[in-house]
Amino acid sequence: MQQNKLIIAIDGPGAAGKSTVAKLLAKKLNLTYIDTGAMYRCLALYAYRNNIDPKDVDALVEGLKTLDIFLDNTGKVFLNGEDVSHKIRTNEVTKLASPVSAPRPVREILVLKQQELAHKSENGVVMDGRDIGTCVLPGANVKVYLTADPKVRAKRRFDELTAKGEVCDIIISSFFLCMFRSIFHAFSQDNWNRRKHVQYN
Ligand code: C5P
Repeated sequence: MQQNKLIIAIDGPGAAGKSTVAKLLAKKLNLTYIDTGAMYRCLALYAYRNNIDPKDVDALVEGLKTLDIFLDNTGKVFLNGEDVSHKIRTNEVTKLASPVSAPRPVREILVLKQQELAHKSENGVVMDGRDIGTCVLPGANVKVYLTADPKVRAKRRFDELTAKGEVCDIIISSFFLCMFRSIFHAFSQDNWNRRKHVQYN
């Protein structure tokens, strides 16, 4: 990584607030903001529009080669010149984003593209995603792992989708997951306390 550029990697789970923090930071420090999730979402939108099975890795890779993904500095996302900023956030696309981002060949292409964007940036970048500090920009000057309470994250996603009039199974299941996590957490805490208590007696 070039010495005169500031490279900031922000990783963390969905709805942890990565993009909000990353955008603010990029604005404050006059850096380019790169939302890597938006890039995977563009591929998901392409797969959705072309009825591509996310398990069909060859079709995903072939498609990816035809896609020109452009992220402007205001947060807008363009796919082959079309403004898809909102279209990549629908339920259908969100559901596909995770499976299309899983195959290794897909990741190799997009990671390379993300590295190029960082390399070409004028002052540096704030890049957010899941694998930025570990895989995309391991030499980043600053690495942040941002997370939030699962209940807060689920509520954020829920509010986002309700605002758009789209409450879906994913969110409901994510609520259940959070509930189970909380229950498990509480349970293990209880267990731990109990064991400790037993030990003391
Ligand atoms: O962050 P966002 O929710 O927009 O990301 C959409 C999806 O893209 C995630 O659910 C994740 O599966 C995938 N993703 C990824 N690696 C990244 C960023 C996102 O696999 N660096």
